[in-house]
Amino acid sequence: MLRAFTYHQPVTVQEACELLAYYEGNVRPYAGGTSLLTLMKQGLFHVENLVNLKRLADLRTIEKEGDGTLTIGALVTHRALELSPLIHEYLPLLSEVEHELANVRVRAAGTIGGSLAFAEAQSDPPTVLAALGAEVRLQSARGERWVSLDEFYVDYYETVTAPDEILTHVRIPAAPPRGGAAYVKFCNRGRSDKPTVGVMVALMRSMPSGSTTAAETRSPARSGWEACIMLGAVGPTPIRAVQAEACLIAEGLTPTGLRAAAAAVAESARPVDDLYGSAAYKRAMARVMARRALERAMQRAGLA
Ligand SMILES: Cc1cc2nc3c(=O)[nH]c(=O)nc-3n(C[C@H](O)[C@H](O)[C@H](O)COP(=O)(O)OP(=O)(O)OC[C@H]3O[C@@H](n4cnc5c(N)ncnc54)[C@H](O)[C@@H]3O)c2cc1C
Repeated sequence: MLRAFTYHQPVTVQEACELLAYYEGNVRPYAGGTSLLTLMKQGLFHVENLVNLKRLADLRTIEKEGDGTLTIGALVTHRALELSPLIHEYLPLLSEVEHELANVRVRAAGTIGGSLAFAEAQSDPPTVLAALGAEVRLQSARGERWVSLDEFYVDYYETVTAPDEILTHVRIPAAPPRGGAAYVKFCNRGRSDKPTVGVMVALMRSMPSGSTTAAETRSPARSGWEACIMLGAVGPTPIRAVQAEACLIAEGLTPTGLRAAAAAVAESARPVDDLYGSAAYKRAMARVMARRALERAMQRAGLA
């Protein structure tokens, strides 16, 4: 049962920040409410003051800067990202990820800021955006700061956000000119459910192509490609699979390299037994998803 709370509706970010500072720990901001209100209705969480962010029009924009950086306001919904022409053109992978997230009802209400701030392990955007080198802007009455998603997540449902801070924007650097990225997830409870395992691979050229031949591209020493591999839903936070990345550097983007990287991904995973499956099952699926994500990223980079 939903217990009584006081509802605040600020119209500026400053006003929202002042409310968070005034009520100290006994307050929460909320946006789409798809996660927070569900927990409150189930009696799993209670707070005496809720600060509705929905009237903060400044946080609904999607902008592209001259250098290709995309800056997305925290209140932009999953649905708006899925349909945005700007995102389609400059970051089609994000449109694709948003299209596969939950169902249209959740996408229409849930926001990108809520998704990142909630820090639920079983979610897609944190894994994808962390691999793309994104950072978030946190604002309070005390000032503002930018934090890389690498440093943002601390533990299950825990980030570095202070109780008086609001996540206002996420900034995603321009994709490298010749690269390829893919996110592959496995949902064992239906396509529109949260991921059991998610693997994101971003391949980037690490040196000019020069006269490198196709054979050289695939060889370990001359591959000229770097990978960022990020795992979601198999640990408390998104996990960067550095051992798997090292396998690709050592073996190149060859069948041996891909096999070794996928095995290393399974080793990096830190899954637990839960309603989504046993830890062993998730580890095995992480390996399979990693292989698929690597192959898809290679196709998109023109390497397969
Ligand atoms: C049925 C269902 C299926 C789902 N499937 C998926 C899925 O497949 N993949 C996936 O990734 N997610 C999925 N989700 C999760 C959901 O989409 C996200 O958690 C959602 O985007 C959260 O956004 P919100 O705006 O609703 O957040 P809210 O519920 O409003 O808030 C969530 C938390 O974030 C905090 N918060 C919100 N906005 C801010 C802000 N701007 N600054 C600081 N703190 C903030 C709140 O205080 C709260 O703690 C699913 C949810 C449901 C209900």
